[in-house]
Amino acid sequence: MLDTNHRVTIASGAAQAPDALPPSRLELRIAEKKAPYDDASAVLEASRCLYCADAPCTKACPSDIDVPTFIHKIATRNTVGAARTILSENLLGASCARVCPTEVLCAGACVYNHWGRPAIEIGRLQRYATEQALARQPDLLTKTRQPKTGKRIACVGAGPASLAAAGHLALEGHTVHIFEQQPRAGGLNIAGIAPYKLHAEDALDEVRFVLSLGDIHLRTGTQVVTGTAGAGEISTATLERDYDAVFLGLGLGTDTHLDIEGEQGEGVVGATTLILRIKLDAALSLAGIARAVVVGGGNTAIDVARELAQLGVKEVVIAYRRTAAVMRGYRHEMAAARLEGVRLLEERPPLAVVRDTQGKVSGLRVNVAGTSREETLPADLIVVAIGQNRLTQLAAAFAGVELERDGRVRIDEPTCRTGNAKVYAGGDCVNGGKEVVNAVQHGKLAARAITASFAQRHDKDRAHG
Ligand code: SF4
Repeated sequence: MLDTNHRVTIASGAAQAPDALPPSRLELRIAEKKAPYDDASAVLEASRCLYCADAPCTKACPSDIDVPTFIHKIATRNTVGAARTILSENLLGASCARVCPTEVLCAGACVYNHWGRPAIEIGRLQRYATEQALARQPDLLTKTRQPKTGKRIACVGAGPASLAAAGHLALEGHTVHIFEQQPRAGGLNIAGIAPYKLHAEDALDEVRFVLSLGDIHLRTGTQVVTGTAGAGEISTATLERDYDAVFLGLGLGTDTHLDIEGEQGEGVVGATTLILRIKLDAALSLAGIARAVVVGGGNTAIDVARELAQLGVKEVVIAYRRTAAVMRGYRHEMAAARLEGVRLLEERPPLAVVRDTQGKVSGLRVNVAGTSREETLPADLIVVAIGQNRLTQLAAAFAGVELERDGRVRIDEPTCRTGNAKVYAGGDCVNGGKEVVNAVQHGKLAARAITASFAQRHDKDRAHG
């Protein structure tokens, strides 16, 4: 049920649809790059696995999925069992199957790489198992849900970290309230993942699955504030007072600016803002955009460049201030971008946005490869992909929560607990912006630690009579 405050209440075991998506969106014009397996192809690929002891693929998985075990279950046609193996460690295993950079994680560690043979397609097998099983048996985890404990946990943000925390906590019998300022849950998976990896409606399906795991209440359109709360707000003091634990899955904030001449105004946009609009804004049109320059060298820069190329922008250039050798973006992603027509210009630090007499963007002036020479890269659109601001001042409002010097929330890694015994944190606000799977792992570790802390408090109370 959705009221004017966008509050959605999900009763135990019965998911309701989070806010619907606009029917026409540019992302729907972008096809998925990897087709899903059919039954025969999945079994065939699974049969290639050597089920290695001390499997390097499992060691390389940030969410500790037992890879050979789930692959063996696929090979023996126990798809639901395979999904259970995956989801018990990674509740967002369906989206991680598509968005994880498996080339540098599990599949990158597969022993087949040492013999010059293709690595096992672990991501595609994981997708096969989770999609098939969830379609057939969506309650495959709830049968083992624990009885209600009476404990209440608040999750701030509804991205992958909070969703994972909420799902695991609900399976332990706790009540979870998620507070999300956006109109939809899903965070990066809904608004920030390139559509050729994951479309928003598939991410929403996964949100519905997580919300169905137990007593989880989602309140979207709700801002968590440090002072007195007004309409559509809840204060950090209320969270600390009214809940047994708080999990902060704050994510990251707005796109960082270049701070160069001409940047303000039409024709210059932050990368995550543009990706979100491609995925969710029915009114967005790229008509009249023939040339785009993306400034940056990370995976977000490559993602947005590929999206623009796939949407028909004729010339897409990534202008990076350093050399390709030190780019943060993955090489295999850059190689794929090149195949789609994206050009990389190295050592091109931006100097100014060039505008015509009408104020319309006509190019980006850059330095050329460490010289004093300058050139102007023609552009109708300039996309700034140099990072996002931190949102962590909110975290610092809780007594005892400390920030690292660069603004990330400081935690105890094994438990995700902050300096405040009731407050836990995970995902991008802690690691500065890693993969979805890293955020999911934080959510899981925090949920386990929160449950363990309740047991310890219970034991202490009993000992004191
Ligand atoms: Fe299978 Fe490769 Fe993992 Fe070995 S390393 S268990 S072959 S996926």
